[in-house]
Amino acid sequence: MATDAFIAQVRASLGERAVITDPAAIEPWLTDWRGRVRGSASAIFEPRSTDEVATIVTIAAEHRVPMVPQGGNTGMVAGATPPGDGSAVILSLRRMNRIRAIDPAARVAVAEAGVILETLHDAVAENGLRFPLTIGSRGSCTIGGLASTNAGGTQVLKFGMMRALVAGVEAVLPDGAIHDGLTGLKKDNRGYSLDQLLIGAEGTLGVITAVALKLVPAVAERCVAWAGTDAPEKALGLLRFLEARTSAVEGFELVPGDSLDLVLRHIPGTRAPLSEAHPWHVLLEATSASAGSGLAADIESMLGEAMQDGLIADAVIASNESQADAFWKLRDSISEAERSEGPTLAHDISVAVDAMPGFILSAKSEVERAFPGAIASAFGHLGDGNVHFHVRAGERADFYERDGKAVTRFVDDLVTAAGGSISAEHGIGQLKRDELERLAPPGRIAALRAIKQALDPLGIMNPGKLVA
Ligand SMILES: Cc1cc2nc3c(=O)[nH]c(=O)nc-3n(C[C@H](O)[C@H](O)[C@H](O)COP(=O)(O)OP(=O)(O)OC[C@H]3O[C@@H](n4cnc5c(N)ncnc54)[C@H](O)[C@@H]3O)c2cc1C
Repeated sequence: MATDAFIAQVRASLGERAVITDPAAIEPWLTDWRGRVRGSASAIFEPRSTDEVATIVTIAAEHRVPMVPQGGNTGMVAGATPPGDGSAVILSLRRMNRIRAIDPAARVAVAEAGVILETLHDAVAENGLRFPLTIGSRGSCTIGGLASTNAGGTQVLKFGMMRALVAGVEAVLPDGAIHDGLTGLKKDNRGYSLDQLLIGAEGTLGVITAVALKLVPAVAERCVAWAGTDAPEKALGLLRFLEARTSAVEGFELVPGDSLDLVLRHIPGTRAPLSEAHPWHVLLEATSASAGSGLAADIESMLGEAMQDGLIADAVIASNESQADAFWKLRDSISEAERSEGPTLAHDISVAVDAMPGFILSAKSEVERAFPGAIASAFGHLGDGNVHFHVRAGERADFYERDGKAVTRFVDDLVTAAGGSISAEHGIGQLKRDELERLAPPGRIAALRAIKQALDPLGIMNPGKLVA
């Protein structure tokens, strides 16, 4: 078999340590994070350098054996899960985990693909700096995975998604050639940007081996506040009000009243920040790089003004770090609290920021009318026009199995009709591929296929993901 010959040749070139064929050691990496898709692979390759990746990819191309790049395997769309027929091998970047350099003056770090996000956070913090991208999987996800999925998170409002935070990419292309984008050039207009093509490509155009990352000064002060309001429109009004007065706001999350109720009911040790119930809530975080900046006082006075203007009904500022963390816990526990009530269908969607308040209300009522008994709710990154649009079983029986596909198609249709995206942060992988194909403009799909064909004519890089 081609795969056996491929494995033998990699072993001969790189030695025993680069190849895992023990089924028990492979097993944990065959299923996606949420446990929805199970694949099969006879080997995991574990290169330790860019040259070793290039050797593996070159041999794979000779034998026409497909590879599935894998980082922390925390992706939400089964992009790092191999196909079920055993035709592909896993190329794990986890042993390429060196931080090659941190340059405090240039505010750039160069990290290999397998560096865990939290490790990078800690390392740059020792230099008084910060890499301003944070997500719930930070203890497991890798820099290569973050770049390959163009990950987002809670700081996108101020700093942008991964694409905006990358200063350069080093990668091995599907023919084994090494692309070195770690040149430090701030300006480079030699045509198409390979770096940007590889970001968000989900491993379909090459293997990212290292990334130069833009850093910002460490946070000296943060102010976390919780506000209650009547409507998503007013929540967005609050954001616009704050943005007109300060550039300090970096997180702005919308929490519906019923989501907060679920958290308070199911997550031990949680308390409502405000004394009265409100239909909607906002969790906001503002930061300053200088101590003694008066940040909290400024935000407090702005919230007071916003209250007078009728944008919010009440607000409280966390009085210390543990209260700030407690506010964030309320937001971060919504999915877990929902699971305690039964199955949930999650949709990571975006529409234009200004259209989001209207979309949240109309999509909720349309979904609940089409699927009587189900409960729809939207929470998350309002300031990015990106919410988690969740639909819970409510009173419906056999919800997941019976309604799952129909609900998702319904939501995706609404999003598409609103000019939005069926994947705001998580990518397409294998779970959203059919919906992308169904709903994306034909010209867009044709362009994606043409790029894939041009860079990976043998189809050996993560086949079956993103575009078929
Ligand atoms: C609790 C939790 C919270 C999350 N929150 C967020 C969030 O707020 N925002 C968000 O955007 N995502 C979020 N995610 C999703 C996930 O963490 C991100 O998609 C992350 O970027 C995946 O990184 P990873 O190293 O685990 O990649 P993997 O899951 O291993 O791979 C993801 C994709 O990238 C490809 N890939 C991985 N490494 C490479 C490489 N070196 N070269 C080429 N291709 C590669 C894989 O083939 C796959 O297609 C969350 C996940 C969890 C479990």
